Amino acid sequence: MRDLKISNSNKIIKVGNFEIGSKTPVFISGPCSVEDFDTMLSLSKKLKNIGVNMLRGGVFKPRTSPYDFQGLQREGLEILKAIRDEINIPVSTEIMDVRDLEFALDYIDVIQIGSRNMYNYTLLKEVGKINKPIILKRGISATIKEWIYAGEYIISEGNNNIIFCERGIRTFETTTRNTLDLNAVAYIKEKFNLPVIVDPSHGTGLSELVERVSLGSIALGCDGVIVESHENPEKAISDARQTIDINTMERIIVKSKLLRELY
Ligand code: PEP
Ligand code: MN
Repeated sequence: MRDLKISNSNKIIKVGNFEIGSKTPVFISGPCSVEDFDTMLSLSKKLKNIGVNMLRGGVFKPRTSPYDFQGLQREGLEILKAIRDEINIPVSTEIMDVRDLEFALDYIDVIQIGSRNMYNYTLLKEVGKINKPIILKRGISATIKEWIYAGEYIISEGNNNIIFCERGIRTFETTTRNTLDLNAVAYIKEKFNLPVIVDPSHGTGLSELVERVSLGSIALGCDGVIVESHENPEKAISDARQTIDINTMERIIVKSKLLRELY
């Protein structure tokens, strides 16, 4: 895998006024789904105040059941952009369909490719043609090699701003939602030195584990975490069981910065 273009992908990615891949870890946080403007604005202001660098919030939701909330779709993009402009913070969201890609470009700073779409090579090639950083989540049962090759699809079209995101894989273990594979994080940092973030929310599925797993990931040398948060986690429309409150998010940020002093 050493002669892949991905080896020359950007080691440090600039978004707004922060960098992903430099010594300081980045904190990306927000609800699983954007629910409405007011709750998103209120949460976003608080997250920005505690040091969150970028907001997350799904508007195109890949739900297991087609009858579950599918996200606010393009209306959700309008909300994200309005908040970005009002409080001046970068925003990221998942794009599932190439038909939404061009429209979304004016609304968001970073595009997330979700776990279910890591194998969508048409989508990967399309995001390879644009000029925005991509968070590439690991497929639910993708090997490290398949994940790296998914990144290669993106860079093969010219976009070399790729942030790998470990979000857990499906194993025989069912007590936690997924099995977070920190080996993969260590491997990509060690062999390729590429930007890698960790999603402890989908990685565990359990809010009470998110702080520990975030800190373990930061201690291991990942470049940041992407964490689902909400002002009233139990009321979150999707992924409530893994969503943390603002105080927990703040502790993660404070402790992570201390841990990073060791590097
Ligand atoms: C999400 O970030 O809300 C999400 C759906 O993540 P994943 O693609 O990792 O399941
Ligand atoms: Mn989610």
